Amino acid sequence: MSTGFVYILSAPSGTGKTTVGNLLLKEIPFLERVITATTRKPRDGEIHGKDYYFLEEQTFKRKIEEGFFLEWAKVYRYYYGTPKSEVERITSQGKDALLIIDVQGAFQVKKLLPNAITIFLLPPSLEELKKRLLQRGEKELDERFEWAKKELPCARYFDYAVVNDRLEKTVEEIKSIMLANRRRTSFLFNNEHYKLFNVGGDILKAILGGKCNAEKI
Ligand code: ADP
Ligand code: 5GP
Repeated sequence: MSTGFVYILSAPSGTGKTTVGNLLLKEIPFLERVITATTRKPRDGEIHGKDYYFLEEQTFKRKIEEGFFLEWAKVYRYYYGTPKSEVERITSQGKDALLIIDVQGAFQVKKLLPNAITIFLLPPSLEELKKRLLQRGEKELDERFEWAKKELPCARYFDYAVVNDRLEKTVEEIKSIMLANRRRTSFLFNNEHYKLFNVGGDILKAILGGKCNAEKI
């Protein structure tokens, strides 16, 4: 069975996780975003099925009961949740799933899937964070800013922390984390992923068919 990694990208609202996530998705062919569900109304330009599955609260609650979500959380005054089926669909194809979710959701997923890799994106400063929220035209500015400050101490419990100062640099840093994982021998040689590895067939045959002498040491 071919399975990819699950990445969780979390950050206080306004830090830039949607922006960074979109650039990563553009640049990394083996990465696919998990489209999540919310009871929040769409912002201008947001499309159902592309940005989110926009659900009525009643429908969302029914789906919780049905066990549709891998995790769900109430963020501000809305519900947000990750469909299990989306994560399974992506990883079963050998692709990596990118979950852009809040901190509560990140902890829930890590508990259920301990191999998931958590990345906390940090704003360069609180002043810059406020500026970015304003720049986005955020209507719930004060509420989101206060919530953001409370989320920052959670960064210590993530696998990685990356500062989103210069966008290109941020993307390069996260890309290098993702590429490094794809070079883990446990990933390459313990399942079908060697097919994704750009190495000659003769070399692969030697690795997979031979015996390592150093095993005796
Ligand atoms: P989030 O998804 O974390 O809430 P967004 O991706 O919506 O954040 O970004 C919030 C605002 O900050 C947007 O206006 C975006 O263009 C801007 N932004 C994101 N990353 C950077 C960056 N590295 N430098 C400057 N502005 C940024
Ligand atoms: P926004 O309303 O700005 O799109 O999202 C608010 C917060 O909810 C962001 O931190 C976003 O990443 C998070 N979020 C989006 N989808 C999910 C989800 O499925 N589960 C959880 N826990 N958080 C989510």
